[in-house]
Amino acid sequence: MVDNPETVTGGCMCGAVRYETRGESFGVIHCHCQSCRKHNGAPVVTLAGFKADQVKFSGDERKIYESSPGVGRAFCGKCGTPLTWEGDGGDLGPIIEFHISTFDNPNVLVPTAHAFHPERIPWFDIADNLPRYEGFSGNSPLLRHGPVSDGLPSD
Ligand SMILES: [Zn+2]
Ligand SMILES: [Zn+2]
Repeated sequence: MVDNPETVTGGCMCGAVRYETRGESFGVIHCHCQSCRKHNGAPVVTLAGFKADQVKFSGDERKIYESSPGVGRAFCGKCGTPLTWEGDGGDLGPIIEFHISTFDNPNVLVPTAHAFHPERIPWFDIADNLPRYEGFSGNSPLLRHGPVSDGLPSD
């Protein structure tokens, strides 16, 4: 679990879609999967997850692209800012994971792991000591801690 203030606010670049989360995030991770990278146009995407009932949207309705059955990826219909990954969180029920840079103050949500590490863009090595997982953190093999380019043969 991640310590954060009771309420954290965020929204898209133009401000049409706003949201707030209440209580603790169940997890903050860097995701290297190709789908997240495509949706964001970024080499890696950092997500903070909440149960859907911890989240309140306001302003314009967010648009949702269904990237696979049961998985929604939301964005602002005016400015196009990619906002969320939304779907079934298993034991957690419906979940909404926000892209970290859409929070007004992302500093309060601190990542604890890398997910889908093998799918990362090879030139994007990461110099932190967080655990790197093969798939979603927690329910997939832990591959390594720390950077690949440590002078040793790569994984
Ligand atoms: Zn917008
Ligand atoms: Zn992903």
